[in-house]
Amino acid sequence: MNKEISELLYQIAELLSFSKENLFRVRAYENAARVIESYPRDIEELVKNNELKEIPGIGKSIEEKITEYLSTGRLKYLDELKKEIPEGLLDIMNIPGMGPRKTKIVYENLKITSIKELETAARNGKLRNISGFGEKTEENVLSGIQLQQKLRGRMLLFEALNLADTIMKEIKKNKEVKQVSPAGSLRRLKETVRDIDILCTVKKNKEKYIIDRFTNLPIVDKVLAAGTTKASVISKEGVQIDLRVLEELCYGAALQYFTGSKEHNIALRELANRKGFTINEYGVFKISKSGPPPSPSGKSVAGRTEEEIYALLGLRFIPPMLRENRGEIESSMDGRLPQLINLTEVRGDTHVHSKYSDGVNTIEEIADKAEKLGYEWVIICDHSQSLKIADGVSLKDMYRKIDYINRLNQKNPGIKILAGTEVDILSDGKLDYPDELLKELDFVNAAVHTGFKQEEEQITTRIIRAMENKYVHCISHLTGRLIGKREPYKINIEKVLQSARDTGTVLEINAFPERLDLSDVYCKRAKEMGIKMCIGSDAHSIGQMEYLPLGVYVAQRGWLEKNDVINTMNYKELKTEV
Ligand SMILES: [Zn+2]
Ligand SMILES: [Zn+2]
Repeated sequence: MNKEISELLYQIAELLSFSKENLFRVRAYENAARVIESYPRDIEELVKNNELKEIPGIGKSIEEKITEYLSTGRLKYLDELKKEIPEGLLDIMNIPGMGPRKTKIVYENLKITSIKELETAARNGKLRNISGFGEKTEENVLSGIQLQQKLRGRMLLFEALNLADTIMKEIKKNKEVKQVSPAGSLRRLKETVRDIDILCTVKKNKEKYIIDRFTNLPIVDKVLAAGTTKASVISKEGVQIDLRVLEELCYGAALQYFTGSKEHNIALRELANRKGFTINEYGVFKISKSGPPPSPSGKSVAGRTEEEIYALLGLRFIPPMLRENRGEIESSMDGRLPQLINLTEVRGDTHVHSKYSDGVNTIEEIADKAEKLGYEWVIICDHSQSLKIADGVSLKDMYRKIDYINRLNQKNPGIKILAGTEVDILSDGKLDYPDELLKELDFVNAAVHTGFKQEEEQITTRIIRAMENKYVHCISHLTGRLIGKREPYKINIEKVLQSARDTGTVLEINAFPERLDLSDVYCKRAKEMGIKMCIGSDAHSIGQMEYLPLGVYVAQRGWLEKNDVINTMNYKELKTEV
């Protein structure tokens, strides 16, 4: 619910800054949205207990709006604001890089009210006539539109997992269901997912019953099709969900088939053919020299489980995360598949923000949460002094923070808190803190937060220079991408990886849902080069510390094993080896 409320407040802020409102009110809504977004407690519960005031920055008028929405499901104020501006402008505002200010300018100057019109104007060089706009703006507009279309219809893995989890729980409640599993890119834990596929087997003659239960779930908005063994629905979020009820005899074959990827399945089919078999969603069949090709009614030689299918083809079981045809079939054949890192092997989080910068929680609360998550250690990393928008920590406060952490560690030996930072890499590659401070810290994450538009050479040298500082342990979110919102900075990734190897710098897998940066493909490459990686949640509230598994999934898709990731080290190893 917090996410939903914060999105409404962001929308209000956007609309207000589009119309005539003063900046002060816009900021008030933005602040409230940001705080609620990462607030550790559920807003609905706070309202019920009349405790909304405990959240800083929520005044009377915002409180009323939250209460109204929670009790009526509507927000009159927002509806009225929407009426005041042409409909298409809302879409334009949401294009990465546009925002309310630029949207207003193109509307006032060129009467543009739709994405299509904006695209045409940018292509025909019409935007550069507006004062303050140039050719560069046109390029940015076009790439923003493209970026948005790329994600259209796809959602972040985090959202897909949550939705699938809700559905799976509901389906499992029925005792008629015997086996159930997600399939598709969700099961492969890909960073974005288009729709959700679920497969199950049920007790005899209960197929239609389960289909009915599924199509009547509260999350369903529209039923597209409902047969006796298959149904497709659209959820309230607009996501298509398919449920297939299968015969037990071909459950494994269907799971294998619908998990994909397409590339993996093509390679597998070719291997099967070479061995005299044919493989499809119903099972594995022997190819006979004469007679018709195998059909579902023919007798399969494997199909009940995925394991028996892979075994029949002379392969060890390939975990879904690896099924991308990136060498997994060959590795499996040779018995060289990686022992993928496991969530239970993780002993700590390398990137958590506290109240010292823009985080919501105190260091004690973070330590407490880390203990609850079963960790041995946690690294507190706040932003550095220059990053004003994120309340960067001054030198003086940093020394105070180190002292404070030392004292906490003496008081509570149950969890080790490491004093860290997420120090800014300034535009020339210098760091935002002097070496004298950096060397006092247990762990130094360095990261780029400004100057995203620098040329490739400049930004590459900038990051390499940071890696060459001997006090820097790790580079956070190396490419700076935000899935569906911002392309990676232009860096020469190969050069940067070489430098990470040469300087012994760890690279972060940032587990924040829209970052997942490094991506799986780069993780695999980094591993091949002998680079160590770490997983940081980049949490700005203790609730967000639960993002960390997303980073583990990326690591798994990147073929990483326990020893490739420093989060599996105990405190002593971490202090001595990193
Ligand atoms: Zn950052
Ligand atoms: Zn951060």
